[in-house]
Amino acid sequence: MQLRIPGPTPLPEAVREALSRDMINHRGPEFAALIRDVTARLKPWFGTTNDLLILTSSGTGGLEAAVVNTLSPGDRVLAVTVGAFGNRFAEIAEAFGAAVTRLRVPEGQAADPRAIARALEEQGPFKAVLVTHNETSTGVTNDLAAIGEAVRPSGALLVVDAVSAVGSIEMRADAWGVDVVVSGSQKGWMVPPGLAFVTMSPRAWQAYETARMPRFYWDLRKSQQTLEKGQTPATPAISILYGLRVALDMLDAEGMAQVFERHARLARMTREGVKRLGQGLLADEARASNTVTAVMPPPGTDVKQLLARLNERGIVLASGQGALSGKIYRIGHLGYVSEADVREVLVALEAVLPAVAAR
Ligand SMILES: *Cc1c(COP(=O)(O)O)cnc(C)c1O
Repeated sequence: MQLRIPGPTPLPEAVREALSRDMINHRGPEFAALIRDVTARLKPWFGTTNDLLILTSSGTGGLEAAVVNTLSPGDRVLAVTVGAFGNRFAEIAEAFGAAVTRLRVPEGQAADPRAIARALEEQGPFKAVLVTHNETSTGVTNDLAAIGEAVRPSGALLVVDAVSAVGSIEMRADAWGVDVVVSGSQKGWMVPPGLAFVTMSPRAWQAYETARMPRFYWDLRKSQQTLEKGQTPATPAISILYGLRVALDMLDAEGMAQVFERHARLARMTREGVKRLGQGLLADEARASNTVTAVMPPPGTDVKQLLARLNERGIVLASGQGALSGKIYRIGHLGYVSEADVREVLVALEAVLPAVAAR
């Protein structure tokens, strides 16, 4: 079976073996060594020397933690939404009482840094800007370096959903002025769902001091303080941390530049391959994602049938979300993925497409 959805992603055998180890005392020295080791080794992938907290949660919990640890009800927030996950981030902030202004971008397009700068100038001041680094629903990657530059003069916090980006696509949080970065274990990290990673800059901690949104499980100060003792506030997902240590061994052995280059190469191969099969792309190609490709088949293609027939051949792709359901399908090429895997997907697509095309 080839699971080629944008998370959860397949697990290397060495990771699966690590996951099956017996439990340890999460208040003991062996756990302290484990959590300290993976925390330190995650940071370079985020391009940060700031605090990084590991939470027991899916990525969405990490997004909620980012919001409630930096904001108060009534705070004005600019939410840059280029798709479903940008909308979710905005909804989380709204659920906790933030005054959210949306800067919407048509599906398939990336956010324009100049439009963000203009919105900050004309509609500001804003306490924070929420941005999705890699919009998994449309296969678009925003230019975070340029967005960081656009946001900096305003003084607003830059809070980024990089759930499906970090570990596969370059992230230089400190250099780009990103205050909070969120990722999730089941995307590029080659481990199961269950961990969220959140970084906090000194400016984000300053915001924490006055942030009044309710929080208990997501209180990152508690996470930071217990991490100093090599612990987590509540019982952690120990098994996934075992797996993460092995996955980081693999990623570090390959090398950061090589991992990013592999994702870029496989994404190009995917785009070129589907275009050769007469399929379109949803994303503006200049900003197309290296972790997920949103394919726009010719009108009349039965996408549901397409996915079902691929399933019969052992290839699992993702459908479109929300209004894109039935209009696109998505190919995940992140984490534990090789050229041979992409080729297999393309071969299966070629075999199945004639039967599901418009007649
Ligand atoms: C997957 C994803 C999420 C949500 O993560 P969950 O683990 O499903 O909660 C959020 N944002 C982006 C960009 C994602 O790809």
